Amino acid sequence: MTNALTLDAPVERLLTEQTGRRGSGKRAAIVDRLGIRTVGDLLHHFPRRYLEMGELTKVRALAPGQLLTVVGEIAESERKAYTDRRTGRPAYRIETRLHTDGADLTITFFAKQGRLAEYFEHQYAVGRRGIFVGQVSRFGRTWQLTNPKAVMFSRGGETDPEAERLMTALRGLFPIYPLTKGVDTWDLQRLVAFALELVDDLPEVVPEPVRQRRHVPDGRTALTWVHTPKDRHEVADGQRYFRLAEALVTQLVLARRRAEVRRQGAQARTGGGGLLAAFDARLPFTLTEGQREVGATLEAELARAWPMNRLLQGEVGSGKTVVALRAMLRVVDSGGQAALLAPTEVLAQQHHRSITELLGDLAQGGMLGGAADGTTVALVTGSMSAAQRRRTLLEIASGEAGIVVGTHALLEERVAFADLGLVVVDEQHRFGVEQRAALTDKAGSPPHLLVMTATPIPRTVAMTVFGDLETSTLRELPAGRAPIQTTVVPLRDQPAWLDRVWQRVREEVAAGHQVYVVCPRIAGDDAEAGTVDQVDYDDEGNPILAGGTLAAVESAFRDLSHGALAGLRLGALHGRLPAEEKDRVMRSFAAGELDVLVCTTVIEVGVDVGNATAMVVLDADRYGVSQLHQLRGRVGRGGHPGLCLLVTTAEPETPARERLDAVAGTTDGFALSRVDLELRREGDVLGASQSGFRSSLQTLRVLRDEDTIVAAREEAEGMLADDPELAGEPELGAAVAALEASVASDFMERS
Ligand code: ADP
Ligand code: MG
Repeated sequence: MTNALTLDAPVERLLTEQTGRRGSGKRAAIVDRLGIRTVGDLLHHFPRRYLEMGELTKVRALAPGQLLTVVGEIAESERKAYTDRRTGRPAYRIETRLHTDGADLTITFFAKQGRLAEYFEHQYAVGRRGIFVGQVSRFGRTWQLTNPKAVMFSRGGETDPEAERLMTALRGLFPIYPLTKGVDTWDLQRLVAFALELVDDLPEVVPEPVRQRRHVPDGRTALTWVHTPKDRHEVADGQRYFRLAEALVTQLVLARRRAEVRRQGAQARTGGGGLLAAFDARLPFTLTEGQREVGATLEAELARAWPMNRLLQGEVGSGKTVVALRAMLRVVDSGGQAALLAPTEVLAQQHHRSITELLGDLAQGGMLGGAADGTTVALVTGSMSAAQRRRTLLEIASGEAGIVVGTHALLEERVAFADLGLVVVDEQHRFGVEQRAALTDKAGSPPHLLVMTATPIPRTVAMTVFGDLETSTLRELPAGRAPIQTTVVPLRDQPAWLDRVWQRVREEVAAGHQVYVVCPRIAGDDAEAGTVDQVDYDDEGNPILAGGTLAAVESAFRDLSHGALAGLRLGALHGRLPAEEKDRVMRSFAAGELDVLVCTTVIEVGVDVGNATAMVVLDADRYGVSQLHQLRGRVGRGGHPGLCLLVTTAEPETPARERLDAVAGTTDGFALSRVDLELRREGDVLGASQSGFRSSLQTLRVLRDEDTIVAAREEAEGMLADDPELAGEPELGAAVAALEASVASDFMERS
């Protein structure tokens, strides 16, 4: 007697019903190793791929491990007895030779009991023909199948239920499941088919009108199509249902969160002083159209009574800082303060300097001779003297400093604001989620947030696709920006090209320009300084330990000074130098007192020296796509064409070379961040610790399913507008509540 099953019934019940026995070896494999605990888990354990059963494999072109479907005739069959090593009991195997239209195969059927052996002997007797399906292995010169599934052609009308089942499967597509030792795809396929017959209360997550609008089947049909498809169309439509269902639940969680944020509210930053207008009037250049448009968007969002949450993307040099500064001035005008968070001290100092310069006497707020509408621009870094720090912290706490630029030091507890209205995070990819949260927590009511980046990291791309972050893009470069020519210098094929590289450097310097030489390490025996954590493998699968030979700032500086670049004025810059030394080197490079700066990625972000026209990246394969793109954005800023040489010893056609070729092939940062996303495994996208969210993302792929995600977002917004509690869709509501309760929610909230 079989009872109807619910999705949360333990999968054991299904196994018991199916076999009529309690417990089995399969149970352990399915429950413990595959983590399939409930009937619902089982039904959502989707096939990895499908095998076209109609197509017979050509025995001529086999590869070990391949799943083979072959028709043949048993040419030899012999029963052999042996002792089962585990149980010590006698056991048997039937060894047969199958004659096919290609090579002969050896097929072995194992039988634990004598009765089964007899049955096999009968089934696979000489002269019988059938279809055999299994994974081939190779033994010496012969191919073999062990315990394949077989359908024998009829010999006098006998029927075998197992053979019939396989026959049915052979008519369509055969699902291949993610497996583990001790379970084969046949076990799962049969168990799933059995479950589909018994389960009768499948919750429907996607409401009917949505299914109609988006042309997907209902949930039960989708399950049937995904697990037991007739053809590829059924698979595709079934999969579309699950992707939409997943996207819809995710989007409902996000949309509800957005609604909650709106309810919490923020202070509208509107009206007030004329600082922004005064700034615009004295700006030494005209804003690009993009800058003006984004400026208007930001102004409108700052004027709303809920927090802005916006990403400003723009090529390196596209002028993001001015856009951010104008938003900050807007907030200062309305009586609030704005903080600009920069990832490095060099960059924070540079921002402070350039903002102060752009503001001119407007940055002398409260000072004698300062403009009436002025404000103070404060700088907070880790290397300030105690006295400086005290004075600055006071300016911030009193509200005298309208604009506060800083590094991580800004996040410290003792930094208190009078009225923090806007947080701007520059080069957002360099900050963790917690760090940003630490700053936004400093405001009385939630502050407005603007994050900026040239190359969004994959997680950012994911979050924008999910609609958790609004995006503005600066697509045009300000006038006077010259293109950057990027070339890969492959030393593996062309060792002599390195000489040519240094010659080019000399040519740039001779033309009055300056050059960066970037190295992955600081000193010879160091771990790499800021490169991707990544190992390449040779053909044998051994990691390539390039470690000992990686270029290091200190040795490259020494060697180049006395060798290839002797006579030029070289400087060295890396993160381990004292802050004053870093600042001094950076200043003299900016002032043109150095020709060549040998450095680590410390210059990756934001550093702006217009006269620097060339960059040599040594061991360029040690860096990620986004990083290289960031790096090369340091050249070509002053109206002169930029040159970037990516020096590598990576072999052609390796992933490392592909990354470099991608960077050399385009200067479109958005395209590159998508390349980055594609080159990574999906799990990396959401961060290693985000397993809750990751496991909720079963079938969705951020890039492939972008359209689905956008569609789901529309549906989610519409649905919540009519029914915020999803009272009319209890089953969907339950799914949303479950996701909200999981760690996933926490992660997305803080991104
Ligand atoms: P990024 O987007 O890389 O942060 P920045 O904001 O640092 O770019 O801008 C790079 C340089 O271009 C700065 O020196 C800035 O003053 C200048 N700039 C910004 N906008 C314009 C513009 N509309 N016209 C000319 N120069 C501009
Ligand atoms: Mg910048």
